[in-house]
Amino acid sequence: MTRFAPSPTGDLHLGGAYVALASWWMARRQGGALVLRVEDIDAPRVVPGSAERILEDLRWLGLDWDQGPLVQSERLPRYARALETLQSQGLVYPCDCSRADIARVASAPHLGEETVYPGICRELDPARPMKRPPAMRLRVPDARVSIHDALAGELSQNLARDIGDFVLHRGDGIYAYQLVVVVDDLEMGITDVVRGIDLLASTPRQIHLAQLLGAAPPRYHHVPLVLDTDGQRLAKRTAGAHLRGLREAGVSPEEVLGELAFGLGLTASPEACSRDEVLRSSAEQLAPHTLRIPARWSARRSG
Ligand code: GLU
Repeated sequence: MTRFAPSPTGDLHLGGAYVALASWWMARRQGGALVLRVEDIDAPRVVPGSAERILEDLRWLGLDWDQGPLVQSERLPRYARALETLQSQGLVYPCDCSRADIARVASAPHLGEETVYPGICRELDPARPMKRPPAMRLRVPDARVSIHDALAGELSQNLARDIGDFVLHRGDGIYAYQLVVVVDDLEMGITDVVRGIDLLASTPRQIHLAQLLGAAPPRYHHVPLVLDTDGQRLAKRTAGAHLRGLREAGVSPEEVLGELAFGLGLTASPEACSRDEVLRSSAEQLAPHTLRIPARWSARRSG
């Protein structure tokens, strides 16, 4: 059982389509199912209509799914229950720190790393008057969580030192990504998570949460990010990055599938191919490399 879990914060770009194809292939290859999950939990970032557009773009590409779309904003009681379970274990505390409060105490993060929460509220009375509506944080142990990622290899983090007590429910009332993704993956019986490598650093946190919630975490397969023609991360404005723009510029779904399947190591060349040809791939597993947007696409500027 795999899932594709786009956030409806804009149109589907090639990086998303790369992950979608990889999850779809893995589900089909295992004879399992693919769940489509709309990760709209962070309401202020949601772009109205983008979930529908993402589904349309996936269908245009020729992908299908077996369950869903399941929509996170319709699943709030499940996240509340999980938070209560953790609270009942004494693992959750309120934190009314502002970003500035944290920045004053925390050591400056190294490049590309997140700020480690320095535990300011950890030992304070949870019944004290709060400066603002508090976030709820998880007490993490001073212990290592190691993962073996099927594609990215080994990663080991000390949760207390590398991550700190992280947020499960934000002060603005929104459940945090880290919590909801784990609740959903467990409840949907996901065995294999395929997603972009930008989420690798979140994985030890998610494994730890799964264990606290009493379940075995899924296997993880982190694929490289798709880059632009210059080797930079895709941005909203990157030419040729979005499926819709490619479609409007006359690129066929088979051309897109050909590039993506080749990037994932499923086919021998980036030539156009149908979804059935991708399925006939003799590959035993994903063998992705970093895909760059072909220059011919970024030149075809459209919409
Ligand atoms: N919704 C996240 C994204 O679009 C993916 C989360 C996940 O796969 O765990 O980046």
